Amino acid sequence: MDGNKINGQEVTRELLEQKGYKRYRGENIDIYYDKNICAHIGNCVRGNPEIFEVGRRPWIIPDNGSEKNAAFVVDTCPSGALKYIFRKEDA
Ligand code: SF4
Repeated sequence: MDGNKINGQEVTRELLEQKGYKRYRGENIDIYYDKNICAHIGNCVRGNPEIFEVGRRPWIIPDNGSEKNAAFVVDTCPSGALKYIFRKEDA
């Protein structure tokens, strides 16, 4: 599933927070998560256990991998529970 889109539209921080996603800040990429959508399939933790570790707080640390890899893993989330936004200088 496209990790930076919902229904074909590019996501914004405002949209995701309005929908109830929680933001996990990274230096170059933010990852967003909605636990109510998560299907607990585990693609994220298998994809990069450094970034995604269930039981750790916070369980998502975007800077524990490259931003490209973070985006790649988020794209493998089948439910749409994970999204990402690359950070711009002013974000
Ligand atoms: S890949 Fe998506 S649906 Fe699966 S456990 Fe991770 S967040 Fe939940």
